[in-house]
Amino acid sequence: MSTPKKFVLLGATGSIGASTLRVLRKHSDKLQLIGVSANSRARELADIVDEFDVAHAHLNRKIDDMPNFREGTNLTFEAEALDHLAAHPEAEIVVVALVGAAGLRPTLAALEAGKKVVLANKESLVVGGQLITETARRTGGQIIPADSEHNAVFQCTMGQPTNSLDSIILTASGGAFRDLPVGELKNVTLKQALNHPNWLMGPKVTIDSATMANKGLELIEAHWLFGLAPEKLEAVIHPPSIVHAFVRFVDGCCFAQLSPPSMTFALQNSLLHPKRFPGVEPTLDFSDPLDLSFSPPCLDRYPCLKLAQQALQEGGSAPLVFNAANELAVEAFQMNRIGFIQISSIIESSLSIMEPCNPKSLNELLDHDQRVRRLASERINSLSD
Ligand code: NDP
Ligand code: MG
Repeated sequence: MSTPKKFVLLGATGSIGASTLRVLRKHSDKLQLIGVSANSRARELADIVDEFDVAHAHLNRKIDDMPNFREGTNLTFEAEALDHLAAHPEAEIVVVALVGAAGLRPTLAALEAGKKVVLANKESLVVGGQLITETARRTGGQIIPADSEHNAVFQCTMGQPTNSLDSIILTASGGAFRDLPVGELKNVTLKQALNHPNWLMGPKVTIDSATMANKGLELIEAHWLFGLAPEKLEAVIHPPSIVHAFVRFVDGCCFAQLSPPSMTFALQNSLLHPKRFPGVEPTLDFSDPLDLSFSPPCLDRYPCLKLAQQALQEGGSAPLVFNAANELAVEAFQMNRIGFIQISSIIESSLSIMEPCNPKSLNELLDHDQRVRRLASERINSLSD
């Protein structure tokens, strides 16, 4: 039997973190967790360290009532320590499951060190797609997409001839408000937005699903992962979230990947690629009736999707602006400072005010990201006064 592959899990206390740990429990003979990180949920992080006997743990912030970590744990707090953990010499795989643009630095650090990166964090590719993909090419680091749609494309294109891919269609559940009359969106609450019909996910991505900013971010993510032009990337509403993506080849044949709406399927596939083993959960049962309906998204209902498509088309700094403004707007919506439909207006005004540019290095990207956040927060202040 081969030795377990050592891996680091960044964002271990979140929803993707939890699904990754489910895969690990099932396949502890094939995987060994050597490092974990969280933002501030120290208690949950300490529990993970205990359960999996993890050597290295990183927390962004010390909290008042710090729990005791298992004796001998190497516990760090400094920002650079997260990058060091992502590049840990013993780790073969790094799972990036942080939320938001905070994923950019550690993703780059892992790729600089030539790691296999299991990437759930889509925002890093949206903000720094060019830098990330160039870094991977230069160092031989590998990006395995863990986002369910992109993992589906990854699976469907496996073993196909180069240049045979024509286009990609990502499916979307349509989120919490897919059946609500558009006129009622102005009255929806945070609690309603967090009530996703199919997926159990962290709060940011759940709200992004309701606005379909998520699918917009994913179209940009797909552009960087699979190298297709914006007009070759489509989104389609598929309420049951069973088909995760379609791949259309140049001869007109389409492939799809199907599995129940749970992230353990995509995460297991990414972690254990290229091998396949029994999954964590029951799969589809074709003896039950299966709803496989698809329809184009209505852009009046989902203005964030339209804005993301425009940002993808424009290129340069536009996707970064879209992402930073969206992160701030979602945070403000979570704090009850703005309404649901104002999320798209914050993004729209940020995109129209920020001068287009082409930040390339990590520092330029981070500086520009900060500029957009300052602008978006002024706009939010003016709306919530
Ligand atoms: P969660 O909010 O559930 O978890 C986020 C994790 O990142 C937590 O461990 C959190 O720590 C940590 N974290 C939060 N902010 C920071 C920060 N500034 N710096 C470092 N760590 C931070 O998110 P999800 O698991 O839902 O999503 C993670 C990523 O995966 C997102 O990019 C999302 O779009 C993507 N994704 C998620 C899916 C899902 O099913 N959830 C599906 C496909 C993609 P703490 O707990 O201490 O706050
Ligand atoms: Mg997804």
